[in-house]
Amino acid sequence: MAYVVTDACVKDFVCVSECATSAIAPMADDPAAATVSQVYINPDECIDCGSCASLCEHSAIYIGDELPADKAHFAEKNQAYFQ
Ligand code: SF4
Repeated sequence: MAYVVTDACVKDFVCVSECATSAIAPMADDPAAATVSQVYINPDECIDCGSCASLCEHSAIYIGDELPADKAHFAEKNQAYFQ
């Protein structure tokens, strides 16, 4: 199961540039970056390496099956961003 970004994200974009598969969007220089409240992980591109979660100083990223109950809906929200 892919990693998921939650609303604890502060858009510092640290994870985006570190992702080996470019699964996290938008990039800091993407015009879309100003229009979103957080970044999102594409579940079809994520290879579950965990780098983003360990880099995030805001504990905003979880492996999908360890999402807290009150943040479970973020799995769908991340996926929806890429549809
Ligand atoms: S777990 Fe790895 S592949 Fe998946 S979004 Fe994070 S850094 Fe990218």
